[in-house]
Amino acid sequence: MNIFKFGGASVNSADGVRNFVKIVQSYREETVIVLSAMGKSTDALEEIVDDFVTKKDGIDCKVKSLLKYHLDIINELFPKKDDAVFLKVEALFKELSAYLQKAPSLSYEFDYDQIVSFGELISTTIVSEFLRFRGTPNKWVDIRTCLKTDDTYKEGRIDWELSQKLISQTFGFTNTFVYVTQGFIGGTITNQTTTLGREGSDYTAAILSYILDVDKLAIWKDVPGIMNADPKWLPDAQKLERISYQEAIELAFYGAKVIHPKTIQPIKKKKIPLQIRSFLDLNESGTLISTASKKQDQLIPVYIRKQGQVLISIRPSDFSFILEENLSSLFSVFAKHRVKVNLIQNSAISFSVCVDHSERRLKNLLEEISVNFEVKYNDGLELITIRHHNAEAVERMTKGRQILLEQRSRDTAQFVLA
Ligand code: ASP
Ligand code: MG
Repeated sequence: MNIFKFGGASVNSADGVRNFVKIVQSYREETVIVLSAMGKSTDALEEIVDDFVTKKDGIDCKVKSLLKYHLDIINELFPKKDDAVFLKVEALFKELSAYLQKAPSLSYEFDYDQIVSFGELISTTIVSEFLRFRGTPNKWVDIRTCLKTDDTYKEGRIDWELSQKLISQTFGFTNTFVYVTQGFIGGTITNQTTTLGREGSDYTAAILSYILDVDKLAIWKDVPGIMNADPKWLPDAQKLERISYQEAIELAFYGAKVIHPKTIQPIKKKKIPLQIRSFLDLNESGTLISTASKKQDQLIPVYIRKQGQVLISIRPSDFSFILEENLSSLFSVFAKHRVKVNLIQNSAISFSVCVDHSERRLKNLLEEISVNFEVKYNDGLELITIRHHNAEAVERMTKGRQILLEQRSRDTAQFVLA
C-alpha cells in the first residue's frame, strides 16, 4: 500500500490535475491520496478570514474570485456542464458563504479553521471526481471524521488513540482501491473542524502512513527532491540523494521548507521510507529519507534561510539579572502567545530571542513582557542556518552583512542578519 501526498502546486491548474491523474494511474497498488488546497487557495482563504474577523467589506468579491478560480479548472476538465462535480463544488461554496454571513465567533483561531479548511474540501472533491471521470473509481473521505485532534484551533494536536481506531476502520480497502482525502485538516470529538498548522498536509500523510503501516510514503513536489538550499535563492543548489530521518528532522526543524517539521517522527518510528519526488519530472528519483546511517548522509553544507525574523532583547526593568525565575516566566509568556522561538541567547543582563514575525501574536506578547521587562526589538531580519558548516560556507552567507547574533555547534551554525 502506498500513500501519496500532493501539494497545492501540483494541482494548481487543469493541466496540473491531469498530470496528477497520470501519475496516480501509473501505479497499480492500493493507494491513499492526501491532497492540499489548489494553488494559493489557502492564502486566499486566510485573507478572507482576516476580512471576516475585522468585518471588512469586499469579502464577497474575494469569495467569488476563489470560486471562479476553481470553476475555471473544472470547466476545463469536465466537458459536461451537468457533471456532479459542479453541484458539489457549488455546495461547498454555499456552505462557506453561509459561514461568512454569520457574525465572527470570539475566537479568531476557531473561525480560521472553519474557513480555511474549505480549500482542501474543494480540491479533494474536484480531484476525486476527475479520477472517477478518467476511469479510476475512488472513495472520497472526509478526514475530519477520523483524524481527531484536540481543540487547539490552528494547530490541532492529534488524538492518536482515537485516530488510530477510526482511521483503520475508515481506510479498510474492502471494495476500494484508491482513497482521496484532505491533508492539513482534522476534527475534534465534537466534530468541529481544526487545522494542523500551515503546510500541514505532509504531516497528515505521515500520520496516515504510521497508522496504516504503509510500505512507503511519497510526497510529490515541484522540486527535484530535497536540495541543499532553496534553488530560487541559491541557483547552484544541489539535490541530496539520500538522507537519514535524523538529518531530515534537523533540516525541517531549522526551517527547510521542503517538509513540514512534524512529518518525520511518525514515519521514523515505523521506519517507513519517504521519497520526496518531482511531479514535473517522473524520471527524477528524488530524495530518499530512510534509516541511512550518518556515514551515508551527504555532509555538504545545507543552507536554510528564514526571512521576516524579529530579534527581541529583553532586560529586567530593575537592576536584576536574567535568572531562572525570569526565564521560566518569559518562556511561559512565549508559549501562551504561541510565538515560535527560533533562537535563544542568554547573558547576565539580557535575553535575546529570534522569532517569526506574526503581527497579532507578537503585539500581545510584547505588551505582556513589557510589564516587567525592558524590551527592544529589531524586525525585518533574516535567520540563516548552515548545517555542516565550513569556513567557506559561513563566508558565503555573512560577507558584507551585519551579524546581530551568532551561534555555532559542531553541526550547525546560525546567524541573525540585518
Ligand atoms: N493548504 C495548506 C497550506 O497551504 C496545507 C498544505 O499545503 O500542506 O498551508
Ligand atoms: Mg497548500
